[in-house]
Amino acid sequence: MSDSQSERFAEVAVFSALDKTLHYVVPSHLCERLQIGIRVLVPLGRREATGLIVALHERRPDASAGIALRPIRAVLDSSPIVPEDLICLCKWMASYYFYPLGEVLQTALPSGTGSSPQTLFALTSTGKEKCTAEKDSTLLGLLAERDATSLEEITRALPSEKNIRHKLKVLEEKSLIERIFRWQNPQPGPKKIKSLQLLAPPESEQMERSVPLRLLVQLLDDAGGTLPLRVLRQTVPNLDYWVRKLQKQGAVQVLETVEFREFQCAQSLPPSPAPTLTPHQKKVFEAILPHIEQSSFQPFLLFGVTGSGKTEIYLQLVEKTVAAGKGALILVPEIALSTQMEAFFRQRFGSRLAIWHSGLPAGARYDQWSEILSGKRDVVLGVRSAIFMPIPRLGLIIVDEEHDASYKQDDRLRYHARDAALMRASMLGIPILLGSATPSLQSIHHSQNNRYTTLTLPGRIFDRPLPDLQVVDMRREMRGNRILSKPLREALEETKQNGRQALLFLNRRGFATFYLCNSCGYVPQCTACSVSLTYHQKADRLRCHYCGWEQTVPEACPQCGNTILTPHGFGTERVEEEVRKLLPSARIVRIDRDTVNHPLDMVRSLDAVRQRQADVLIGTQMIAKGHDFPNITLVGIINGDTALQIADFRAGETMVQLLMQVAGRAGRGEEPGRVILQTYNPTHYTIESVVRMDYSSFCARELESREKLQYPPFTRFLKLLVTASDETTTRLAAMELGVLCREVALELRDKDCHVAVLGPAPAPLAKLKSRYRWHLFIKAWTNREMQLFTETVLNRGKNHPALRRVQLSVDRDPMMSV
Ligand code: ADP
Ligand code: ZN
Repeated sequence: MSDSQSERFAEVAVFSALDKTLHYVVPSHLCERLQIGIRVLVPLGRREATGLIVALHERRPDASAGIALRPIRAVLDSSPIVPEDLICLCKWMASYYFYPLGEVLQTALPSGTGSSPQTLFALTSTGKEKCTAEKDSTLLGLLAERDATSLEEITRALPSEKNIRHKLKVLEEKSLIERIFRWQNPQPGPKKIKSLQLLAPPESEQMERSVPLRLLVQLLDDAGGTLPLRVLRQTVPNLDYWVRKLQKQGAVQVLETVEFREFQCAQSLPPSPAPTLTPHQKKVFEAILPHIEQSSFQPFLLFGVTGSGKTEIYLQLVEKTVAAGKGALILVPEIALSTQMEAFFRQRFGSRLAIWHSGLPAGARYDQWSEILSGKRDVVLGVRSAIFMPIPRLGLIIVDEEHDASYKQDDRLRYHARDAALMRASMLGIPILLGSATPSLQSIHHSQNNRYTTLTLPGRIFDRPLPDLQVVDMRREMRGNRILSKPLREALEETKQNGRQALLFLNRRGFATFYLCNSCGYVPQCTACSVSLTYHQKADRLRCHYCGWEQTVPEACPQCGNTILTPHGFGTERVEEEVRKLLPSARIVRIDRDTVNHPLDMVRSLDAVRQRQADVLIGTQMIAKGHDFPNITLVGIINGDTALQIADFRAGETMVQLLMQVAGRAGRGEEPGRVILQTYNPTHYTIESVVRMDYSSFCARELESREKLQYPPFTRFLKLLVTASDETTTRLAAMELGVLCREVALELRDKDCHVAVLGPAPAPLAKLKSRYRWHLFIKAWTNREMQLFTETVLNRGKNHPALRRVQLSVDRDPMMSV
């Protein structure tokens, strides 16, 4: 027995779904090498597991009283891979979002780092001596011939040897061999892509006969002769047929090229000195600077319309942060949005800049992450998950477009990156800047209560006017103009004639929204999800937008046998067709989830627009956000109402934010912009606020109604989602959970903990990917109440057999009630 006085203990979060951390004894020979934030191999039941040390204790922790603690088996890192402040953040997330700490840490690490290392076997020095003495053991003999060898190699080399695993274990226990652990980090090997190059234009006769061929040649022409096949495949029907045919004629050739590896999405800008801040910008800058210098926690809400100069303030604040020897983190909602930011940041910070988004291949992600960890790159620009970047001496966090819904992860660990960023800033004692032209009502509420310092940038740089906004009442339009109204048609023609660009926004993709049987009302539905299928013309198929299921349009109604099913409603694909009819010579770029498979596709399309290779840009919310297109002078909002139909208390907020963002795309350059908003509800207060571009009065009205209804930000919500593949199982479990929640709610009243239980009810999306969904909402007035209540319910729920048969997920501060 070792002297218990000198024993040390480690608390380990195993990378799995365990809801507790585990305690281990630190063997004396590992004492020196153990630190918080390193990975270790520990015994777990009868197997071994990898985990991260989250705490070290000098004394036996109370939580482990009465349990025989086992020793840590091996140390897997020489230095911490998660800094202590990030471990604290992960602990907070695990507790706040009710998610296992080990899995939170796994989310925080680049893929591969949170799994298991490769294990190799090698002789110890004792083993080597022993081996020369007795040559009888084949296993030892083999290991003596080689350096470190994997189990697979040993098995291959000694095919007749039995029970190798067990024998190795015995040898290890005798200290004759040892295990060596090696992490296999993903290498960013060059990625090859196939592109099509136009060598000579095909015969004109052939071109005239075929629409796809004309399209293909035009696309290649517009792109300067070469385009990846992947990109062409999305627009050109029967692409492979045409490629083979043209190859035979010698008109095209297929090239194999290496995809660019630096993952620099943005075009490089020549270095240029930072402009002098305007007086308004300077005021904002000077309010924040002292907090960076003194490292003090303070949230700021920067309210400024698009084009008011927020990005320039970010750049100059980050410069000051870096100059003070600290790191900076800038969060943006989406990768495509980051490209312009990236260009500016790269221009000022060069190779100190790290980029983090889902478009990076695993190897590049790993490289960026390890260079951030080592302090080589101290300015990090990234999307939601960049909140987990291990930036040493973090001194400033910026969250751009803080209202954006994509900061909320809507599966597994359902965290909100802005809220986590606030927590990280407060733990570190550093300033955090939330910027937006249309801040979330939550942030506006906090700034009204003085929890945030509000800073505003009035107007646009150079006093560029806000665009002129015209509302078209679609109820008054002729039948034929239900997609593009007369004023919008005229404006499109005029814009094209003036050589300007137009943007058309519609938040629905596809061609028709759904197919309907005119005699019995049957609508083709997805078999796995409770939604109707959307018609896509180019593919001539019906698709489910939730799970991707595809089928042909039925020739006859499966319900009544009627042979006429007609398309209803419309999406981006249909709008594209309408624009083609109106402006046959226009070059059109469409951006939605059908044309964008890879984040870089979007970057390319947006670049084409920026370089004026397109006249009309059509897209869904993907194009609504902060992109800067100086030559776009017309913005058409095709259906300004759709969001109003969503049964969610945030529908109005989301819609106004989105419409204002879209409208802000017009007139970013020298020319004034024009916005045409088509709507069936011209007098609805949300539409009226957009028309007046008056976000503040919208917020005042909306906050008043939320307070009346006791909705967030005045209260807090939590969603309990029950899913299973069987309908009855799901319903019964949800009912049982409802009973349990009400029991607990009643009980906790004595502890001065008050919550309201709403539901259970089937979720609006009652079935998704073949799983039935029911949910319950919990409303609480404080975080403490919400925490206590949910912990109690989850603990008790473990013993309910009905709940063990379903998947139960917790969504704290949910964004959408789907
Ligand atoms: P936002 O981020 O609020 O949309 P930006 O920071 O992108 O606004 O500013 C809009 C435009 O004004 C950009 O082209 C930017 O280069 C320019 N700009 C910003 N600040 C200044 C300044 N102080 N002097 C000159 N130009 C500026
Ligand atoms: Zn589906």
